[in-house]
Amino acid sequence: MPIVVVKDKKRLSSRDSEKDVYSIILHNEGLEYEVGDVLKIYPQNSNELLDEMKKFYKDIDFTNYDLRLTSTKMLKVIADRSEHIKELLKPMNFVKRQEFMLNNSIPEVIRGFGQLDEEVLLNNLLKMRPRSYSIASSMKEHPNEIHLLVSLTKFKTKRGEEKGTASSFLIDTMDVGSSFRAEVGKKEHFRPPSDEKDIIMIGPGTGIAPFIGFLMERKNSKGLNWLFFGERSRKNEFYYEDLLTDLQREGKLRLDLAFSRDQEEKVYVQHKIKENEGEIREIIAKGGHIYLCGDAKKMAKSVESVLKEILNKKASSECELAKMKMEKRYLTDVY
Ligand SMILES: Cc1cc2nc3c(=O)[nH]c(=O)nc-3n(C[C@H](O)[C@H](O)[C@H](O)COP(=O)(O)OP(=O)(O)OC[C@H]3O[C@@H](n4cnc5c(N)ncnc54)[C@H](O)[C@@H]3O)c2cc1C
Repeated sequence: MPIVVVKDKKRLSSRDSEKDVYSIILHNEGLEYEVGDVLKIYPQNSNELLDEMKKFYKDIDFTNYDLRLTSTKMLKVIADRSEHIKELLKPMNFVKRQEFMLNNSIPEVIRGFGQLDEEVLLNNLLKMRPRSYSIASSMKEHPNEIHLLVSLTKFKTKRGEEKGTASSFLIDTMDVGSSFRAEVGKKEHFRPPSDEKDIIMIGPGTGIAPFIGFLMERKNSKGLNWLFFGERSRKNEFYYEDLLTDLQREGKLRLDLAFSRDQEEKVYVQHKIKENEGEIREIIAKGGHIYLCGDAKKMAKSVESVLKEILNKKASSECELAKMKMEKRYLTDVY
């Protein structure tokens, strides 16, 4: 598995922001990527978890295992040590079982239910799952670098606020000079079109990441580059502000911004798209492409519904967006 080294790490959200969003630049030797690809990173367990495990198992290498979550297989192994676990394994207790598995790390299980034989332990741990991050650079501009835009995932558990495994690994644990395992995830379905085509990129939040790569590659494109970016506020979360405003000033980018909390009424990218519906329809009628990246749960649905609405107004067919999808002119990478 290839190893990448952290070359630079910089906070892009302001200190006043509730979000912790970082630009992470990796030194890259040998990994080939194209714009649109993702980097699949293999996070390591936190030092706290590793230190706790060291108390029980001195010589085991836990690199490939996830020590934060408990597997069903592990519960089955410890079931004969606890009536409570036996109960949890009954089909009707599915929800409680999931809760237990999310809320009990492996050191907690060992502390609570006793040590396991090394081989039994390793056979019943979950494998560490890689996480994907959109590549925010182009090899043409940065042949020996891979740029990422990473937002720290936070959520509440019974123990209090917790951080996501991979995002906290990248942001909190990895410093300049640190290295980790990673590989490129190919995204053949998410490539910019030929140079003369117009493109509309919709990428709020970390959804902007692949479009930074697109823009690096299309700096001298004949076709229009139009980006819709959104976040909470201009002051705190305008990632890549200098790059974007420079490109805009040089006439290489049309930029529409939606900062939802900068005015009383919430404004999101879909509102900006609606405001520009006439021009968007013209671009699409002339063969333009639309790209969408970012949050799948809410944003993508709202954007898609506005796109359907505005594109169907003049089109002869009822489903212009579906047609664009078939022609690979409407491409999405949402998560
Ligand atoms: C194609 C693609 C591109 C992506 N690009 C980017 C990008 O450019 N930038 C970016 O920041 N992200 C990106 N992501 C998201 C990224 O891959 C990760 O999913 C994200 O960073 C969260 O991973 P994590 O390991 O930090 O969180 P995890 O530890 O995997 O947690 C994820 C979620 O699981 C739940 N969870 C986990 N543990 C518990 C628990 N104990 N109790 C309760 N709930 C729990 C929480 O809801 C939490 O939010 C992308 C994803 C895809 C698929």
